[in-house]
Amino acid sequence: MSLVVVGSVAYDGVETPYGRRERMLGGACTYVALAARYFTEVGIVAVVGEDFDRADQQFLEARGIDLTGLARAPGKTFFWSGVYSEDMNDRTTLRTDLNVFADFHPVLPASYRSCPYLFLGNIQPELQRLVRAQMHQPRLVGGDTMNYWIQSRRQELLSALAEWNVLLINDSEARMLSGERNLRRAADIIRRMGPRILVIKRGEYGAVLFADGDPFLAPGYPLENVCDPTGAGDCFAGGFIGYLAERGLAPEDASSEPQELRRAVVYGSVLGSFCCEQFGVDRFRTLTRAEIDARFQEFKALTAF
Ligand code: AMP
Repeated sequence: MSLVVVGSVAYDGVETPYGRRERMLGGACTYVALAARYFTEVGIVAVVGEDFDRADQQFLEARGIDLTGLARAPGKTFFWSGVYSEDMNDRTTLRTDLNVFADFHPVLPASYRSCPYLFLGNIQPELQRLVRAQMHQPRLVGGDTMNYWIQSRRQELLSALAEWNVLLINDSEARMLSGERNLRRAADIIRRMGPRILVIKRGEYGAVLFADGDPFLAPGYPLENVCDPTGAGDCFAGGFIGYLAERGLAPEDASSEPQELRRAVVYGSVLGSFCCEQFGVDRFRTLTRAEIDARFQEFKALTAF
């Protein structure tokens, strides 16, 4: 196994202009792992409750995700619900019930500890730090967070961040974390907090990479039908980190292999776009690597001038 992913495995309730799902498989860890699995071997660290459906576990197993680090605890699985605006660029969180995540103390299986790649998906920053501390010298550590943690656990987050090489975050969160409106200046401030490689995601408008050289801008794929954007940011992260793992890249490559980082951003954008085509994780029930590579090529054509 080459990539360990920690984060929420959840049930989500989602309403978009296309419809509504009361309870479907979701969670940051789930989406990151599903997307990264197209590139590399993945194991997850998370906890679910007694209500976690056997069919959902079987789906993750069938995708070849290592579930040795998926604990089951008395209580309910993490639950999140949200409703999207008409244009789907904004969403309002209705509920965040940590449930079994509230007292989760992750213990990494021995088989995970020497993995070269670690991705700390969106969850309490203290849990992210605890998982990082159990790994033996990973080659590259990446992570994600959100407004919920920036506001409520800022100090914990700053200590976790200091040990990361890569941070993926969306634009409003980058402004909130840095206290700076201008994205370029915000990027400088955030990179001084720890992560040398920073990707600022801009929803349907794509993403900007800030590493050692000039910034790189990747558009969002112009989808004809966006059904449900839930998890798109996590799938972006999974595509990005999965590609770095597939290519065996390290943080030092930020200066020697800038093209590889750029390709990773485009794979991130590709995986995020597929995620939006159906509700929840449904697109990953049929998506193939060939479809992913075809859309990656399409990106080249769309941006060449
Ligand atoms: P995204 O649309 O990429 O931001 O990811 C949405 C996913 O993140 C959903 O599946 C939620 O279950 C999960 N999520 C939402 N809020 C939180 C939170 N505070 N901590 C951890 N995971 C969360």
